[in-house]
Amino acid sequence: MTSLTLPEKALSHFTNSPTPFHNVANLCTMLGEGWVKLNELDKWEGAIVPGGKYYYTRNTSTLVAFIVGGSYVASTPGGFKVIGGHTDSPNLRIKPCSKKEGAGGITQLNVECYGGGLWHTWFDRDLSVAGRVIVRQSDGTFKQQLVNLKKPICRVPSLCIHLQTGEERASFKVNKEEHLQPIFAQVVKDTLESPADKKLKTKTAWEEGHDPILLSMIASALDIPTSSIADFELSLYDTQPASLGGANDEFLYSARLDNQGTCFTSITSLAEYADSDLVAKDTDISMVCLFDHEEVGSASQCGAGSPILGEAVRRVSAALNNGGGNEDFFQTTLRKSFVFSVDMAHAVHPNYSSKHERNHAPKLNAGVVIKTNQNQRYTTNAFTGFIIREIGRRKDVPIQEFVVRNDCPCGSTIGPIISEKTGIRCVDAGMSQLSMHSCREMMGTHDLQLCVDLFKGFFECFRDIDELCFECS
Ligand SMILES: [Zn+2]
Repeated sequence: MTSLTLPEKALSHFTNSPTPFHNVANLCTMLGEGWVKLNELDKWEGAIVPGGKYYYTRNTSTLVAFIVGGSYVASTPGGFKVIGGHTDSPNLRIKPCSKKEGAGGITQLNVECYGGGLWHTWFDRDLSVAGRVIVRQSDGTFKQQLVNLKKPICRVPSLCIHLQTGEERASFKVNKEEHLQPIFAQVVKDTLESPADKKLKTKTAWEEGHDPILLSMIASALDIPTSSIADFELSLYDTQPASLGGANDEFLYSARLDNQGTCFTSITSLAEYADSDLVAKDTDISMVCLFDHEEVGSASQCGAGSPILGEAVRRVSAALNNGGGNEDFFQTTLRKSFVFSVDMAHAVHPNYSSKHERNHAPKLNAGVVIKTNQNQRYTTNAFTGFIIREIGRRKDVPIQEFVVRNDCPCGSTIGPIISEKTGIRCVDAGMSQLSMHSCREMMGTHDLQLCVDLFKGFFECFRDIDELCFECS
């Protein structure tokens, strides 16, 4: 069996990760053998040892994975070398009462916009449904199962050109409540309800809120009776698989590159670093922390604004020190730590090149982009940016620079939020892409390998470089 190339693995990951839940589940599988799953409800003291590799999830949509260096010495604070990213992307999500009777005998799905999507790109796509389902089991317990219907079952059709005024055509304004509800079915619903469903004496109020066809589709995908569906959290997604493109396969087209591009490359790097000889000599903790809810501001139980990263630093440090470690110890640990916050970046667009300032216009396939903003929308400063540029120099990975034009608003990401919460030093960077927040985005294929090389370089070289920098930070 031939093994897949890095871009082929990426395509498979993007296609099979329609929601943050699928993304995290697939990333856990990518870690490979020998990784120990931690439970936040268990005692970690005694369970974490130097040389070990561990991971845990929160809400099953945020992932923390880490390797304890083989030379970590108890009672000597080791730093945390963290790559941070996010698992979520803007999309359309099914509302708690999804049943919607549309005009023309058409059944629609009631959806809510998640994040700041380029919503006009969701029109005329062949959409399916995926997410997590809370399943009622025969013994009275409940469990969570992931579902992916895969088949295109709904669509948001454009309004034809002939029914629009010139002004409407020119503006293409989308009313997010009125215009984005997808068409789901046109049938007499009774005919599609299974005999078992018809026998249901009374439906719960929750079941009444959903079209029985949708419930039967979910039930049949999970091979359970419809009555076992206790609840769900479902999203729409474009069924077109990710693919290579461009005359020489130099581009990669996919949904959710922001920020599954970082999820895929960071976990690939951590897994590869775990297998290298360098881990035995490492005195630090090498960590990847991928948070949900970045697209809506990160303020949630499992977002970058939650205490999860600070808790990870304290809890892992305490577990490695027999539950010990005073405030002095933890503060030193935090000061020795560093967050490499990585989110996708804006490549210069040939049709809109004036949107970039000429000296800070990243290209596709030309290396990782450091993002700087003096107004602290990004965390990069002279020291943290230098660390990444120096790693790039040592690992032969080209580094590009991005600063937004003064007359343009600037995006932001998890870096400033993590820095504010934890006080850990941070830099913001990312791979360049086009069509960010579109239903289908594009990036440079070669940037995947450059990013993996830089991430591995971060785990390998950070401590050496940091120790050479006296009074820099
Ligand atoms: Zn992002």
